[in-house]
Amino acid sequence: MTRLLIVGPQGSGKGTQGVRIAEAFGIPTISTGDVFRAAVAEGSELGSQVKAIIESGDLVSDELTSAVVRERLSQDDAERGFLLDGYPRNVTQVMHLEEFLEGRGDELDAVIELSVPRDESIARLSLRAQEQGRTDDTEEVIANRLAIYERETAPILGVYGARGIVVKIDGVGSLDDITARIISALEARGLNRSAAA
Ligand code: AMP
Repeated sequence: MTRLLIVGPQGSGKGTQGVRIAEAFGIPTISTGDVFRAAVAEGSELGSQVKAIIESGDLVSDELTSAVVRERLSQDDAERGFLLDGYPRNVTQVMHLEEFLEGRGDELDAVIELSVPRDESIARLSLRAQEQGRTDDTEEVIANRLAIYERETAPILGVYGARGIVVKIDGVGSLDDITARIISALEARGLNRSAAA
């Protein structure tokens, strides 16, 4: 059972690395950004609640986001462990998650911090905007999202750091090198990859 969280500024590559690490450990990736984008694409009720917020780069309410995550974590495949990407994103969500996990006798094993210089994140985001045409990758929205990261998300690393579970990884380099760095840092903490991977 491996319970992980990956944290990093937009453009740090956390989505890509999150999927690779989850595969290596044989656990599902739970990305709140992906859940919200899928809901918008489907035109579901959740989608209509979050569409404008996502497009501005602001955060969806903590209550709604935490409810979505609780429901996802309650599905069978998350019983063996999970990798959270993009949640919790502020200290209130850290408390919501903790309350939920404690209720089932669980806690996070490690928090992967992908560290990438600001200029590099901005360059990668601009490239992704051209390639994928995400509506929240315009220059103005990118600046808003990075400011929110600094103000609201970076402090969660202080909370988890005080518990000694943050694994800081240099996020500059080739995709494969970064994946290998993360896996060896997790293994050094006694977290083992699934035999199936
Ligand atoms: P991401 O792909 O993780 O950057 O998420 C895209 C957008 O979804 C964010 O800019 C927010 O509007 C929303 N979002 C994703 N995760 C959260 C969260 N944990 N709390 C609030 N809003 C979120």
